Order: sequence, then C-alpha cells, then structure tokens
Amino acid sequence: MNKIYLYNTLTRKKEEFEPIDKSEVGLYACGPTVYNYAHIGNLRTYIFEDILKRVLEYNGYKVKHVMNITDVGHLTGDGDMGEDKLEKGSKREGKTAWEIAEFYTKAFKSDLKKLNIIEPDIWCKATEYIQKQIDLIKILEKKGFTYEISDGIYYDTSKFEDYNKLSHLDLETLREGARVEKNEEKKNPTDFALWKFSPKGEKRQMEWDPKKYGADWDIGFPGWHIECSAMSMALLGEKLDIHCGGIDHINVHHTNEIAQSKAAYPDKKFFKYWMHGAFLNIKGGKKMAKSEGNFLTLQNTFIDKGIDPLVYRFAALQTHYRKPMEYSEEVMKNAEKGLNHLKNQFRNLGEKSGKVSKEFKNKFLEEVNNDLNMPKALAVVQEMLKSNLSNEDKKAILLEFDTEILGIGIADLNIKAVEDIKIDENVEMLKKERQKARKEKNFEESDRLRDEIEKLGYTVEDSKDGMRVYKK
Ligand code: AMP
Ligand code: ZN
Repeated sequence: MNKIYLYNTLTRKKEEFEPIDKSEVGLYACGPTVYNYAHIGNLRTYIFEDILKRVLEYNGYKVKHVMNITDVGHLTGDGDMGEDKLEKGSKREGKTAWEIAEFYTKAFKSDLKKLNIIEPDIWCKATEYIQKQIDLIKILEKKGFTYEISDGIYYDTSKFEDYNKLSHLDLETLREGARVEKNEEKKNPTDFALWKFSPKGEKRQMEWDPKKYGADWDIGFPGWHIECSAMSMALLGEKLDIHCGGIDHINVHHTNEIAQSKAAYPDKKFFKYWMHGAFLNIKGGKKMAKSEGNFLTLQNTFIDKGIDPLVYRFAALQTHYRKPMEYSEEVMKNAEKGLNHLKNQFRNLGEKSGKVSKEFKNKFLEEVNNDLNMPKALAVVQEMLKSNLSNEDKKAILLEFDTEILGIGIADLNIKAVEDIKIDENVEMLKKERQKARKEKNFEESDRLRDEIEKLGYTVEDSKDGMRVYKK
C-alpha cells in the first residue's frame, strides 16, 4: 500500500497515516448545526473532508465515515450563554424547532449532493443520542470532573491536565479567549456546560428529563461538545482514527471533546489524527460567517446565477485545505473558465477509453497522499494531458481521477466529442461575425461577440488555429 501523509493538528506535523485497525478506518466529521442553510465556507470544510475520505478509499482503505447533525445544544456564540440556535431558528421562521432541524438537514444533504460530496456512512443526530450523552456526563460526575451552577452541570477544565494539548496555546491564552462570555459562576473561564437546565418557568421545545435516563439533574438539554464525544465513541468503537472539522473547532469544540473523553476514559486513545480545514474568507481576509452578514449559499451564489455548483468544488480544490481561500466573483469566474477548459480537453479526447497509465496514477497519488495536495494533483492532470499518452489512455485516467477523487463532473459528461453537437444557428452566425471581426483585427467587436456567444451557454476558445465554440 502507498504511504499517506496527513497533517495532524495534535502534533503540528505531517505524519504517516497508520490506521488503528487495517480492516476499517474510522472518520468522524463534525457536521452542521441545522438552524439555517450552510454557507459556502461551511461547504469548503465538507469538500476537504470528502477529499480525505476519497483519498483513503483510493488507497484501498475501507472507511467508516460518521457525521453528526447538531439539532440541539449549540448556542449562539459557541459557548454556554445565549439562545439555542434551533430555538432561535424556530422563532425566526414560525416553525417548531424539530421542523427547522428537519428542513435544514434536508437542505444540507441536497447541497452535499450538488457538490458530489459522498454521504457519510452514518448520520447521527444529537437528539437521538440523549442517553449516551447523559451516560458520559455521569461518568465524568462520578470521577469528580463536574460541578453544578444555577444554569447547568459544568466541566471543570482545571482538573484535566492536558487541556491545551490540541490548541498548543498556553492556558492563559485559552482562558482569555473564553472570557468573552461572562459567567460569574463558572470556576474557570474555559469551563463549559455538559448539561444546561431549561430556564426556570420556561418550557423549551427540545428538553429532556434526566431522571428518565438515570441522572438526577433538572430538566434541560445537552451542551454542544458532549454530543461529538458520545456519538463518535458509540459509533466508531475503538476505530477512532481521524476527527476533523474547520479550524475554528481547535481551541474550543475539539479541545473540549478531548477533555471530556479522556477524563472519562483515561486509558483509551481519543482519536489519533485531528485534521482541520482553513476558512473561506471574503475580501480583506474576513471569515465568512452567518453572524458577519456575509452569508453566501450554494443556491444564491451559484445555482440562482446559472453557475454549476461544481465550479465551487473545483475552486476549492485549487487551494490547499490548510490555506485560507478567498471568495470573490472573479475567483469563481476563473474557476468556471478553468473547469470548462478541462471539460473541453476531456471532450477532445474522443469517445474511446484506453488503460490507466501507472506512471501518471503514481504521480497523482503522490500528490494526493501528501496531505491532500489537490493543487499539485490538478497540475499532474494538466501534465498528463500534455504528455504523449494516447488520447484513449488520457481519457481513461482522467475518468478514473474524476470518479475516485476530483468529483468535478468530468465523468458525467456526454462523451461525444463536442464538435458533433449541433450548435444552434444563432451561435453559428455570431461565430462567423466574430471570425470576420478577428480577421479585421477589430478586437472590441470580437470581445463583444464573445460575450454574446457565452451568454447563450457556450464557451469560446481562441487558439492559433482559429476559434472553437463549445456548449458549456
Ligand atoms: P457549523 O454548522 O457552524 O457547526 O459549522 C460547520 C462546519 O463549517 C464546521 O466544521 C466549521 O468549522 C466550518 N466552518 C465555519 N465557518 C467556516 C468558513 N468560513 N470556512 C470554512 N469552514 C467553516
Ligand atoms: Zn463536533
């Protein structure tokens, strides 16, 4: 088997990947909080995780991919204060919190499909694992890691020695980060809620009576972090290989997951590799976030504008997952051009498919196995297309790369060469006019005609041999 190297946030190093159990790799990805549509920043993280899973599978591993759906417990501001995001969504839309969760879970799954993201093997909802979460809190309680204050049961982070192991920050810096939220009753700023009580005199839509689950706390709901500890251990058993999410999860969510799980089971390893995707930012390096009001969705940014959502996937593959990616219309326009060009290169390979070249497959594997270096893997694709492989062999390998890893829609193309596709008469006329303008070196007119042709759903490519027009 080929070697795979992955950057582990825990050690801040690229490490050779060695599964805990060779027969199956456990992969846990923190899923969405389903109170609104996912924005394209969120989706960048899920594209990175999809590539990770595909790369493991391309190398011959069987992967068990688990993703949670946070349908309760995630409060506004990622901490322990403020409103529950689901209850907030319910007020905003006049639906029940359960309906909100169901609606946005469906919307999320539909986004994944549009981006060719392979669905996880197991979806798990926080509200369906209440017993497991309560059981885990009870273990922590028994071991003396918890304390009760007026609004819930909290985890005492000062009792856990390695609290800063994942973040590599000193404790004071972590505490500073947590101080944003003022809760006078907490013993340490980094302490977090395991179980929140429903506010006195208020009936929440999502609340449980712990007495029915073997604990004697007041009615309430689980904190956000406990769900991922409880569900990952319940569903992956010993196969706690890789845990991933966006970089914002390092200092709080994943740090707290480790603190809970290791305190409950000190002799068990809680995930060997921790991987984090960098943010999608908007101009000026500002993070895309729902709270920042710069909230772009796949629907409003791509689909409504007639742009194929796979353009976004292609754009995401052009930036390494650990580097920030910038969103702008211009970046997406270039990605669209790039993807169309690649599609046309594919179309020009003709109808027959040959055999997969070992040399180029190895080159491609070397890049994807080097901490998912997709920009370099795409460069290998271009190198292969320029090589002296036969068109049939080029076609075979490009189809394989797309089906197995890239997922950018090459394999879905009608394999008929585009020149055979009947181009509508209007376009033929514009094409002729543009040829004339080019001959006369009237570049302004030629540019205008190019725009017109493109508006009709075609791509124009100029080369030294003339002009070619393809259906997008
Ligand atoms: P949430 O639904 O807020 O729990 O976030 C879902 C996933 O998206 C998490 O893994 C986050 O770390 C990630 N995420 C949030 N904002 C961004 C962003 N601007 N760019 C990339 N990933 C993000
Ligand atoms: Zn999580």
